[in-house]
Amino acid sequence: MPEGHTIHRTAGLLSSMFAGSELHVSSPQGRFAPGAALVDGRALTTVDAWGKHLFAAFDLPAGQPRHLHIHLGLYGKFAMGDGDAPPVRGALRARLEGGGHWADLRGPIVCEVITDEEKDAVTRLLGPDPLRRDADPDRAWKRLSRSGISVGQLLMDQKVLAGVGNVYRAELLFRGEVSPFRAGRDLTPDDWDSAWVDLVALMKRGVKAGRIVTTRPEDRARRSGVVTVADSHYVYRRTGLPCRRCGELVRTEVMAGRNLFWCARCQVS
Ligand SMILES: [Zn+2]
Repeated sequence: MPEGHTIHRTAGLLSSMFAGSELHVSSPQGRFAPGAALVDGRALTTVDAWGKHLFAAFDLPAGQPRHLHIHLGLYGKFAMGDGDAPPVRGALRARLEGGGHWADLRGPIVCEVITDEEKDAVTRLLGPDPLRRDADPDRAWKRLSRSGISVGQLLMDQKVLAGVGNVYRAELLFRGEVSPFRAGRDLTPDDWDSAWVDLVALMKRGVKAGRIVTTRPEDRARRSGVVTVADSHYVYRRTGLPCRRCGELVRTEVMAGRNLFWCARCQVS
């Protein structure tokens, strides 16, 4: 599933392509036709992201449905380009065209047009998003520090933190030398402060690069040049490979419905 950095990057791209332009919004597949009709022909004003949710606002009076709300889920994907849009192929949920650009959306779990109140109802349920300037890490801390649930599970809960997925969960815990099995209430305020700072930096880098790289140069097989896929992570998808720090074999087990990866020697407690 795309993590928050992908959604923020997409929001930035859509904004630079479309903000200020009147868009032709359609649903070649038909499933989103009623929603598309609500914003078709209107100017797109702003695009923002909160966790894994993307909102594109259109120039319509307050009170009317005017936010295109998208959640990609596991399989959703955007394709974008300049000039004329390509011929329609397959199940195309939504197409945006205007300002000399196009964007196609396939396979999202949510694609709808909602009101200001409905948008607020979505974001109210989300924890702070490390990539948002208005993010308040104390909101996440309140939930983490009161919970007997493991941090590995809490980090995947979008009500605790918005935008973190399976890769950032595993990598953040490794970098902080925190066991994924430690209960939230056993974290210290210092643990959380440094985890938040690290997470913000990692995710910002993810937005810029369009990929997640969490390793430090000294921990990579190749220390200079473009970071290879194999060198990008400490533990994520490295089951059975030696830990980059201590040589212990990286482990995996299912936690919160997804494979968790960790080093049992570096992340003891
Ligand atoms: Zn290790």
